[in-house]
Amino acid sequence: MMLNAVNIETFVDPTNLRTDSEAWDRVRRRLRAELGEDVFSSWFGRLELVDMVGGVAHLSVPTRFLKSWIQSHYHDRLQALLVEEFQNIAEIVLSVRGAIGRPVQKPQTSTSADHAVTERVPTERNKLEGFAAPEGKALPDGDPLSGAPLDRRLTFANFLVGKSNALAHAAAERVAQNAAGDAPLYNPLFVHAGVGLGKTHLLHAIAHETTALGRRVIYLTADRFMYGFVSALKAQTALNFKERLRGIDLLVIDDVQFLQGKSIQQEFCHTLNALIDSGRQIVIAADRPPSDLESLDERVRSRLAGGLVVEMGSLDEALRIKIIEARIASARQHQPNFEVNPTVISYVAKMVVSNGRDLDGAVNRLLAHSTLTGGAMTVESAEAAIRDLVRTREPRKVKIEDIQKLVATHFNVSRADILSSRRSASVVKPRQIAMYLAKVLTLRSLPEIGRRFGGRDHTTVLHAVRKIEGAVNADATLKDDVELLKRMLQD
Ligand code: ADP
Ligand code: MG
Repeated sequence: MMLNAVNIETFVDPTNLRTDSEAWDRVRRRLRAELGEDVFSSWFGRLELVDMVGGVAHLSVPTRFLKSWIQSHYHDRLQALLVEEFQNIAEIVLSVRGAIGRPVQKPQTSTSADHAVTERVPTERNKLEGFAAPEGKALPDGDPLSGAPLDRRLTFANFLVGKSNALAHAAAERVAQNAAGDAPLYNPLFVHAGVGLGKTHLLHAIAHETTALGRRVIYLTADRFMYGFVSALKAQTALNFKERLRGIDLLVIDDVQFLQGKSIQQEFCHTLNALIDSGRQIVIAADRPPSDLESLDERVRSRLAGGLVVEMGSLDEALRIKIIEARIASARQHQPNFEVNPTVISYVAKMVVSNGRDLDGAVNRLLAHSTLTGGAMTVESAEAAIRDLVRTREPRKVKIEDIQKLVATHFNVSRADILSSRRSASVVKPRQIAMYLAKVLTLRSLPEIGRRFGGRDHTTVLHAVRKIEGAVNADATLKDDVELLKRMLQD
């Protein structure tokens, strides 16, 4: 395969963009066909193609763990598929996007030697801190039950409390301090919030605190749970895996929305039941409430909803200011000259509204700016430094329930009417519009949408979507109505 420098224009030309995304779709389809849905969605569901430069395809995944796993199990296969599907690609480089509290690093163009220095699971394990191994024994290398590494900075002391997270914070502290042996207060504690709003931080804080109290804690991401279970199955030690999970006081599982696959869910459900029934505390985080965890089956969802479910809302301005100030204070320990006046802080807090990760990014940019120029930071220079963060604010995530409520109000029917099986014209039309909006404004699949609309079949949803698409083109008033609803849902 040629390593010719790829013409820059190739990336700007929309036709090429389209062919690229088609080729990428083909790679994904082939992987799915080869590996089956469970394996595919577990390991490749969140693999993204970042860019292609100089014959190298840069791919990214959200966790270091996924990166190591793909690197050590699927690197060659993935590379072969990309080389086949893309004209200009000779090799791939895998990186982790958006690591906690650190600016996203753009992958460097590599030579094949880079693959040799990829982080592996044992390297991550070296960073393990404060983890009590079950029965006090050292864990063998690569043991999935060693848990994911805890970040030393993500403690209660560093977690700032505001209106949006006060309840979650209070519940987390209670759970963490509840001494070993006492019956758990709320079990499971289920925390949900959007990206970057502090779920992982709170979970790490609980794990640190509980470990410090001498209790046995395991912190796992959903990926690790799956990995642990799959490898236990392979080694035929599933029983051992279960037994050992049962030997702990607190199990913390992060990002449970990523748990995929039937047998893994079953196992997850058994584990939950066994731990809860024997009085062990469980803490879970996800990006949505249990009822919206559509990849999980009903029994798991109701078990998860059976304890205390708390949401952390978006960070209000006062809290954003506190977080920025704290980040600046900690940066000043290394850079005493780094000073940001209150006007600039309040400007940044007004502009960067999305999440804690972007606030970290903003402070990093201010710091870089101040180190490079040495000058005092003004609102103007701050504006230039954080411009990209302000522009890439994520659009609001639309919930199916909100669509149903809004459409119902708009057409003067009830949400129950929309979910019902009534077939009068006054109900059918808003129902179809709501299904159409659910399809275009959310990432839910047709069967999922059908289920959320009173257990309808996916063909009914498809019919509604087609019907409204057609009607919007023929009827200007309806078109305006639909546009208005869309805007109201997205703002
Ligand atoms: P999530 O897991 O919900 O996506 P994280 O816990 O990774 O979010 O938080 C993203 C970043 O924002 C982290 O650096 C975290 O320390 C910071 N952060 C979020 N909420 C708070 C808070 N209340 N106090 C201090 N830092 C916070
Ligand atoms: Mg997280």
